[in-house]
Amino acid sequence: MRPRIVAGNWKMNTTRETARQLAQEVAQGATAGVTVVVCPPYPYLEAVGTVLKGSSVALGAQDCHYQEKGAYTGSVSPAMLADMCCAYVLVGHSERRHGLQEGEGLLQFKVAAAIKAGLTAVLCVGETLEEREAKRIEQVLARHVSSGLAALSADKMGRLVIAYEPVWAIGTGKVATPEQAQEAHAFIRGHLRTIVGHAVADATPILYGGSVTGDNAANLFAQPDIDGGLIGGASLKPTDFLKIVAAAKR
Ligand code: PEP
Repeated sequence: MRPRIVAGNWKMNTTRETARQLAQEVAQGATAGVTVVVCPPYPYLEAVGTVLKGSSVALGAQDCHYQEKGAYTGSVSPAMLADMCCAYVLVGHSERRHGLQEGEGLLQFKVAAAIKAGLTAVLCVGETLEEREAKRIEQVLARHVSSGLAALSADKMGRLVIAYEPVWAIGTGKVATPEQAQEAHAFIRGHLRTIVGHAVADATPILYGGSVTGDNAANLFAQPDIDGGLIGGASLKPTDFLKIVAAAKR
């Protein structure tokens, strides 16, 4: 059975103190049977990691470089994240794909480098509104998934999570309906089967992200191919986030 995962992407929010408080509340309220991950900004990884020590909540980062070390000003390597006790890292979030023009050629190396360093990579994929309206959803998802996995051997797939995040649903309050989300997740899983085979595809968690709240999470997570969520705005509100976590329990 695939694990249930709920990951909070705090983006460029919190202070050191509010990050610590938020982590504390999440650690105290986490639900057994759901893997909970929080992804604070880089400067607060250590402070949050210290709070989470001994809890069931895992630490994640929001991005990484694809090189192990070197002259890459401002960048953070997967090995550094592992050294900070991170277990997860987001790759290809739409705010980086579209906002910072991170291309598919780059993202596949980030995924491979993250996994090589011992992290679990959360590969974010998803169509824009324009692509949806042009009925290009499947074409875009197939491309994002195929390119994201291009530098990965099948034996590394146990450390890959996919997050389906339609760009039009991120931070907009326009959540995908459970049917829209399930359709996309089923397509992604089917596409994965053609790349890595049935057993691996059926074991790969696929999370939904995009305006998930404590009120809409349960209906989304009830869909057969939705294994949890990647949560932005609501992950900053402990009560709402913990309600989402509870909704992910089987
Ligand atoms: C995200 O940024 O990954 C996200 C899903 O944001 P939100 O939940 O705010 O839509």
